[in-house]
Amino acid sequence: EVKVMETDTITAISTPTGEGAIAIVRLSGPEAISMVTGLFHGKDLNEVASHTIHYGKIIDPTTSEVAEEVMVSVMRAPKTFTREDVVEINCHGGMVAVNRVLEIILGKGARLAEPGEFTKRAFLHGRIDLSQAEAVMDLIRAKTDKAMSVALKQMDGRLSGLIKRLRQDLLETVAHVEVNIDYPEYDDVEEMSHEVMRQKTKEVHKEINELLEVAKQGKILREGLGTAIIGRPNVGKSSLMNTLVQENKAIVTEVPGTTRDVIEEYVNVRGVPLRLVDTAGIRETEDIVEKIGVERSRQVLKESDLILMVLNYNDEITDEDVKLFEAIQGLEYIVIINKTDLEHKLDLDKVKELAEGRPLVTTSLIKEEGVDELESAIATTFFAGEIETGDLTYVSNVRHIQLLKKASQALEDAMAGIDQDMPLDIIQIDVTRTWEFLGEIIGDTASDGLINQLFAQFCLGK
Ligand code: GDP
Ligand code: ZN
Repeated sequence: EVKVMETDTITAISTPTGEGAIAIVRLSGPEAISMVTGLFHGKDLNEVASHTIHYGKIIDPTTSEVAEEVMVSVMRAPKTFTREDVVEINCHGGMVAVNRVLEIILGKGARLAEPGEFTKRAFLHGRIDLSQAEAVMDLIRAKTDKAMSVALKQMDGRLSGLIKRLRQDLLETVAHVEVNIDYPEYDDVEEMSHEVMRQKTKEVHKEINELLEVAKQGKILREGLGTAIIGRPNVGKSSLMNTLVQENKAIVTEVPGTTRDVIEEYVNVRGVPLRLVDTAGIRETEDIVEKIGVERSRQVLKESDLILMVLNYNDEITDEDVKLFEAIQGLEYIVIINKTDLEHKLDLDKVKELAEGRPLVTTSLIKEEGVDELESAIATTFFAGEIETGDLTYVSNVRHIQLLKKASQALEDAMAGIDQDMPLDIIQIDVTRTWEFLGEIIGDTASDGLINQLFAQFCLGK
């Protein structure tokens, strides 16, 4: 018999991301009701009867602004799913709003629920009988076994532990190299140090990029996948945009914190929220390569999380197509060969060659054919078909992502330096920068610098 009592209050978005008009943020735990009461403009929820629902507004305490109009259900222990006090906040403003509400609640001290944790609590509190218990544990295990949720935990609290370890690794590597330089017992100190550096930078670089991968998923769920539709004029970009918007219940939202004029359309493709830039923006990218050249347009396109590259089946590959492929090389993209209803003039083998193994989908947007396949390709590309967005909630932080990217870039500079046999002190500059970027993530003051730390920890020199 399991008798573990949880004492903290957990929260999560308990509806599939972006799906439907209403999204629910659920809280469970001793402070569920008091936390929401403090944010709720409406009836005093401490006073209301159990199992009742109330209209009101969630106020962001940091700005005193209304974050969202909501319906709040209050359910008191023990007659609830988890047998704890449960509050459900029904939001209707789409993904951005619901995430904002979640953030506000996290700010109140609730903890982000782990996958399956509401169910786990129900189990631990004896709400579910023994025959159900196994199924529940299987469920929890199945979910936590996913690499994603392991990585997810790293992002959530464990991030700082990991960052500290990576920094320590870098520190020790630099120390190792310093020792070699100061005490050259070997003939080829320089070469050996390069080898040590090469190993370590590679390892750390890999771990940072894995973190970035996870962060990307989190960012997508929070903000939508920045999606650009590109292709030559007349291939069907606008048609594609319209199809995606019509088929997937677009929510037109003003994104908080951005310029008032920027309207972005959110569409939900099989649980993957896409953030399509406005039509004007897309039109601009039509002849982007023409206008600003491959290198610059690549920079612009790099900002997108996903690129939908549209070709015309009824036309041969042109230089312009090839230039577009060059501009998106190495980025995340899907090739859409449109107008299959017309004569097939496109050389498919040539396209496959250009598309570097990326997903390739044929459509006739005018006949509404191939759209399902396209949507699967979009979902598969990002979630490898495995992620259920149900109770998976990610917290990631734009600042962290920015710093991880900088750290990764600095390490790439270091690695390039190593490959070019640059002097060690030059390489160490990049390693030090990496160390500092990582330090900023965990709020470590960069004031003492790596070398000071090094001497403090290893007593090098004398
Ligand atoms: P864009 O310039 O890339 O945005 O292309 P549009 O979406 O404006 O489409 C250009 C023209 O192609 C329009 O007349 C569309 O109706 C037509 N079109 C789009 N998709 C298809 C298709 O699958 N088959 C055919 N036959 N025509 C299409
Ligand atoms: Zn167009």
